[in-house]
Amino acid sequence: MTEKVQAIRGMHDILPDRTPAWQRLEAEVRRVMGAYGYGEIRLPIVEKTELFQRSIGEVTDIVEKEMYTFADRNGDSLTLRPEGTAGCLRACLEHGLLHNQVLRLWYGGPMFRHERPQKGRYRQFHQIGVEAYGMPGPDIDAEVILLSRRLWSALNLAGRLELQLNSLGTLEERLAYRAELVDYFGRYRALLDPDSLRRLETNPLRILDSKNPDLAALIADAPAFSDFLGDESRRHFDGLRERLELAGLAYVLNPRLVRGLDYYCKTVFEWVTTELGAQGTVCAGGRYDGLIEQLGGRGSAAIGFALGVERLIEMLDDGAAGLDVAAPHVYLIQVGESAERHGGVLAERLRDALPHLQLVANCGAGSFKSQFKRADRSGAALALILGEDEARVGLIGVKPLRGGGDQTTVEQSVLPQYLRDFFRF
Ligand code: ATP
Ligand code: MG
Repeated sequence: MTEKVQAIRGMHDILPDRTPAWQRLEAEVRRVMGAYGYGEIRLPIVEKTELFQRSIGEVTDIVEKEMYTFADRNGDSLTLRPEGTAGCLRACLEHGLLHNQVLRLWYGGPMFRHERPQKGRYRQFHQIGVEAYGMPGPDIDAEVILLSRRLWSALNLAGRLELQLNSLGTLEERLAYRAELVDYFGRYRALLDPDSLRRLETNPLRILDSKNPDLAALIADAPAFSDFLGDESRRHFDGLRERLELAGLAYVLNPRLVRGLDYYCKTVFEWVTTELGAQGTVCAGGRYDGLIEQLGGRGSAAIGFALGVERLIEMLDDGAAGLDVAAPHVYLIQVGESAERHGGVLAERLRDALPHLQLVANCGAGSFKSQFKRADRSGAALALILGEDEARVGLIGVKPLRGGGDQTTVEQSVLPQYLRDFFRF
């Protein structure tokens, strides 16, 4: 037998029994983005490698070891996007969207990172991201966080996620903190793992982000950033905290929250759950004021977040509450050749009359019994039953498939009204 071709490790099909959860999440995202005036932007999946190197930072997990990079046919180095912020900013600069403007955007779609696949960590995964440009104050920081909270309530996840908050201050403040960290971790070199030893030279803040449990105690005792925050950074952070408190949003200060990417400053935050094991962060973001200039633009203020769709879907599935199933309203049984021809016309007429009706017409013939089995398996609420006799005299049988109820016969001419009443279209 010929061997079957398999999907790439860490890249998953989303089968029809799972797509209703995805669609529900996407519909809620659209609605909530609209409620805050965020416009959707759609971006290419492939960008020049340089874009990510210049924005994410050379000494990050993503650029060091996770990017899907390949040579285009003409030799250009291209990369499957590992995240959306860089491409979004690139597009805004390229199309002059940032000229003296504030801008609120969102996007969604697949991202690619060559990581070790495990629960909640895949090589192709999906993010929904939000970016807000041109607003330097803590008001917009609060807005994007409140927007994310509204999304959790829309998905019935309120109360299952915790907001963690930190400030990374300005570049100067980070440099001073960095020196202190080098000094501190330098004294405990013998305890560090190879990754952290390397980071000690290149990007010591990232040691705080280490997931190695052996380092947890050492990291917990490291100096805290808050002692290095200047007046402006502190005012900004206090302004954000005050707004969150006014909105009744509880948060936890996490001084070890540094985020994996280089471009963050001042506000950083994550929404975390304990329900998903090690992969507990479902949404992460922060301010990245320096990045616009770094990519050749003018102006500076920018904040955003990205949420991991797979991790959220996992939580939705666990809760299972209120998920629609992808079942049609109606299954049309048509027994016999002339009934089948008649049924084809009837089905089109019903779809014309009732644009919201989801009707599956039996194809591939079959006895009444086998068609009825298919109708039941489809999950439809109603079976419409058309035999040769009914077809000839303009009648049709109607049989509720869920929760009992007798079969009745109605005139085909009143069927649209019958279905409208039954399904309350
Ligand atoms: P982690 O620390 O878990 O590696 P990260 O800091 O690399 O996360 P971000 O770049 O901030 O993650 O991405 C935002 C969100 O996207 C994460 O909080 C997570 O929910 C999701 N995410 C990131 N990488 C993956 C992945 N490989 N598979 C599934 N979801 C992911
Ligand atoms: Mg990562």
